Amino acid sequence: MTKVQTRSQVGHRVVIVGGGVFGCTAALTLQSRGWSVSIVNPGTPPHEDASSTDVSKVVRMDYGSDIFYHELGEIAIEGWKSWNRDWQQPLYHEDGFLILSRGQMKLGGYEHENRKVLEQRGYNTERLTANRYPAWDFSEYPDGYYNPHGGWVESGRVMERLVQLCKASGVQFYSGQMDQLRSKGSRISGVLTNNGDIITGDIVVVAAGAWTPTLLPWLSGVLWSTGQPVLHFLPENPDLFRAEHFPPWSADISNSGWYGFPALADGRVKVAHHGQGIRIHPEARETVDANHEVRTRKFLNSAIPALSDAPIAYRRTCMYCDTFDGNFLIGHDPDREGLVVAAGGSGHAFKFAPVLGEIVADTVEQQHNQWGSRFAWREARAFGNEEARYTGQ
Ligand SMILES: Cc1cc2nc3c(=O)[nH]c(=O)nc-3n(C[C@H](O)[C@H](O)[C@H](O)COP(=O)(O)OP(=O)(O)OC[C@H]3O[C@@H](n4cnc5c(N)ncnc54)[C@H](O)[C@@H]3O)c2cc1C
Repeated sequence: MTKVQTRSQVGHRVVIVGGGVFGCTAALTLQSRGWSVSIVNPGTPPHEDASSTDVSKVVRMDYGSDIFYHELGEIAIEGWKSWNRDWQQPLYHEDGFLILSRGQMKLGGYEHENRKVLEQRGYNTERLTANRYPAWDFSEYPDGYYNPHGGWVESGRVMERLVQLCKASGVQFYSGQMDQLRSKGSRISGVLTNNGDIITGDIVVVAAGAWTPTLLPWLSGVLWSTGQPVLHFLPENPDLFRAEHFPPWSADISNSGWYGFPALADGRVKVAHHGQGIRIHPEARETVDANHEVRTRKFLNSAIPALSDAPIAYRRTCMYCDTFDGNFLIGHDPDREGLVVAAGGSGHAFKFAPVLGEIVADTVEQQHNQWGSRFAWREARAFGNEEARYTGQ
């Protein structure tokens, strides 16, 4: 049985390395539980290169046959609605999720299994009706469904809000990059930054997203960083892409990687790819390669023709911190007392922001958390991905 240590036994100061969604939600929860929390991050977060800093992220409970993520998604969506009520400006938009299948949905396929789980759990979905979505040419994706329970979130603005809430609750921010962990005897006791500052704590949580594998190189078989292309198009007629007839979507995503979002207020339409990506260091990321643009236009030409010639307003290579099995890594390092890792978002963690802080805080305190075991410390064994992820480039 795991020995539960109380906060007074482990101390009261926690240093969090990284002010992305893992770091800030953990900071808020731990500070509210009486810990004295510091966040170390280059500059004040949100950092422009952080994965969490983006115009939008999909919020879905559609996880194929994986009931665990379906249930966690359900709870997270309730959390987003609650944040919408608490925050002056709602940042979660429940525009639903349009999930398209190449050919008829088939037993065992991502789309079919999603719908089966949703129906078993009492959710209404609408089978695809082509005339409701005028921007789409459904010749290649003739089947699918619309799930009204989901949507997207303005992730960059959410991060701004979380940082404000952290500051208001007393979380201390230090600008700098962790260079090294510091130890006292056998225990991790803080971090040394690139400015030469030493920030001490009773627990150090490394939540540095795609930078984590470099900071903790002994995890290189468990976590690694991959670059993923994102393009923003500027269509001639943005109204065709408004959420009521162009909700967030995926198109045979587990076999193609394609997904996207409705037009932003300024008319930009984001199209992204949930694929294998390219293994690169986050500081070595390049701009989206020309082949990807060609591929994207080919897909758009067949599926969303009014976007296929639209100019590109923005290109970004965004970093995933992938784990070997597609599940996050939230656990105490068994070989380094006082060190906790909260990373490995694997391209799908942002939607769980309303529940992540509790999971990380319970882990820090070695308390039971009903979701914790899926993310617990583990060796790289059975390789895999969450079910929506395309395993090709
Ligand atoms: C293209 C793309 C699309 C995505 N789409 C979705 C989606 O639709 N839905 C969804 O749920 N999820 C999505 N995700 C995944 C989600 O964005 C990530 O899982 C999540 O944001 C990871 O958060 P994080 O806190 O681990 O990392 P980050 O947000 O990257 O934060 C890490 C922080 O650590 C800081 N840092 C780095 N090095 C150091 C250091 N040495 N010292 C101190 N601080 C340091 C960085 O500056 C940064 O602020 C997507 C990700 C990408 C890249």
